[in-house]
Amino acid sequence: MQPVGRGRPSAPTTIVGVDEIIPEQVVLNENWRLTELSHNIREPLDALKWLAKRIIIKNNVECNNCQQPFSLNAYKDAADAFRWYCKGSKQRQSVREGSFFSKSRLPLQKLIYHIYGWSRNMPQKEIQHEAGMNDASHTFADWANFCRDVCEVELETNPSVIGVINADGTPIVIEIDKSKFFHCKYHREQWRPGHWVFGGIERVSRKCFLVEVPDRTAESLQNAILEFILPGSHIVSDGWASYAGIERLNDGIYSHAVVIHKRHFVDPLDNEIHTQNIENLWMRAKCKLRQQFGTYEDLFTSHLHEFIWRQRFKEFPIFPAFLTCISRQYPL
Ligand SMILES: [Zn+2]
Repeated sequence: MQPVGRGRPSAPTTIVGVDEIIPEQVVLNENWRLTELSHNIREPLDALKWLAKRIIIKNNVECNNCQQPFSLNAYKDAADAFRWYCKGSKQRQSVREGSFFSKSRLPLQKLIYHIYGWSRNMPQKEIQHEAGMNDASHTFADWANFCRDVCEVELETNPSVIGVINADGTPIVIEIDKSKFFHCKYHREQWRPGHWVFGGIERVSRKCFLVEVPDRTAESLQNAILEFILPGSHIVSDGWASYAGIERLNDGIYSHAVVIHKRHFVDPLDNEIHTQNIENLWMRAKCKLRQQFGTYEDLFTSHLHEFIWRQRFKEFPIFPAFLTCISRQYPL
């Protein structure tokens, strides 16, 4: 913080003290409730501090012209009640410049409520009610899209590669499967081809990947296996023809066992050979996507990514997990 000068105290050059910034690991484990959240972001300045502490907006900014720190000035006409301001060059800058929130003019409190509700899977009506966004459902849809973009970038930056070897030297067992996702038959006259999705899940940790594939040919599925499953893993699949030869991929980097679905769900001779985990994953993915994407053909991939993203962070409170993803994607 800058020293207070003579006469009128000068405006601060940071939103919060540097020692008030919360480390990512701590943010990741915060468990917010709506009542606590609303208490913490009651006034516009509270919301700014709340965001700055979690590195979601800039805590301080330097003026391009004078290389001097901007000061944080109260400004009654600004949506956020404050603006960065340089006395020397008279430059002004929004406090949300360069942040996830720069896409919108809605008050920051409303946007925080929105991402809270979105991340916690609250129904659209409830989120709009809590955020006071009753007016514009397109605003709501835009923000849901922005949130899913964050999920997509997170998955692109850190792809879900699974498998390899346990601490005791045994290979990690991965169940793989393909499944076709169809859209709701909303427009009955319109034929919709659906989407092939290929996935794998570690049997013990439940770490997983799901990826849209163009078809279920050996080429498409084996490319996905090589991309998402680490060498050394033990793969369990059904008897689909495209899986033949997994054990020979790249001179035998995987071992492979087959369970024949049609005859018995669990191999009667070896109860380790089954694909129940991936079957469960399909069930959850289909249930979730059915609720959400309905008829929006072009949003399928985006909703699939959201589902995978949620799987990845299922160990953590989901709202803080989302905040840490925003923070990492908008380096300040
Ligand atoms: Zn300046």
